Amino acid sequence: MEILKYACPQSKDEAFRLIREEHGTAIGGAAWLRTNTKTIALGVDLAGLGLEYVREVGDHIEIGAMTTYRELETNPLLRARFGALFETTVSHVVGVQLRNIITVGGTAAGRYGFSDLNTTLCALGAQVVFYPDQTMDLAQFIERGAKVPFLLEKVLLPATAKGTYHQMRISENDFPIINTTAVWTGSEWRIAVGSRPAATRLCPKAMALLGADLHPSDDILASAARAAADELQFGSDIRASAEYRREILPVLVRRALMEVRE
Ligand SMILES: Cc1cc2nc3c(=O)[nH]c(=O)nc-3n(C[C@H](O)[C@H](O)[C@H](O)COP(=O)(O)OP(=O)(O)OC[C@H]3O[C@@H](n4cnc5c(N)ncnc54)[C@H](O)[C@@H]3O)c2cc1C
Repeated sequence: MEILKYACPQSKDEAFRLIREEHGTAIGGAAWLRTNTKTIALGVDLAGLGLEYVREVGDHIEIGAMTTYRELETNPLLRARFGALFETTVSHVVGVQLRNIITVGGTAAGRYGFSDLNTTLCALGAQVVFYPDQTMDLAQFIERGAKVPFLLEKVLLPATAKGTYHQMRISENDFPIINTTAVWTGSEWRIAVGSRPAATRLCPKAMALLGADLHPSDDILASAARAAADELQFGSDIRASAEYRREILPVLVRRALMEVRE
């Protein structure tokens, strides 16, 4: 990666202007950006915007775009509200050094197929806030993308939910072959699946099968897990075939559902 011109704006207005009007490239942790050889005409470093936070506001939790994975992994508020969900989601991502750098904003903005975190965020029903004032469901954003350059300011989560993350990797430092998060929101089940190897999708048919009951029977759990595999599309890549992913997924979904149900 080569950056021809570098800016480190101190206000969101200025960062947004540089991105929208001067075609600047937002720089989060820059861990992913630096893996390619692209030349960036104008790099807009978001480090001066004060977007590193996890806080409770009213009935939801806000996570600033520059919050690192390590913060998600160790944050007491997230631990209190979601148990070990964030830790189990991000702790597979390479090592602590990288998790100290990579950001929530860079992950949501990138809509990466292999993402561990986007799967958990979608299962939680996360919304993304684009500066200055557009809020969108993350699952929809991942599916549709954005038509214009954007500044992702923060991610919104419900204040609490019960969820668990399961994934399969060939080796610990690799991308996942397949991953899933199951969540009980307090009134409904949500299931997201990522690394198909395409990006995260929700599983509405499987979610509907589970109904509004925190304690569905084993048979219903098994049917929902199979439905999740039936309703999604899978692809083949160097890590696994589509058939293998389709076979493995119901096992992971069933385990995740059983763990949440207890
Ligand atoms: C070696 C390596 C291994 C990895 N392994 C895994 C893995 O196993 N599982 C996994 O889930 N992830 C993995 N990742 C990806 C990582 O988790 C992050 O998703 C990724 O690095 C992006 O975060 P970043 O902060 O580095 O973003 P950057 O590299 O800074 O940016 C990525 C993209 O998002 C844009 N962007 C960044 N922030 C914003 C913002 N606030 N608003 C608008 N656009 C923005 C940038 O312009 C760029 O296009 C890996 C990354 C690396 C480098």
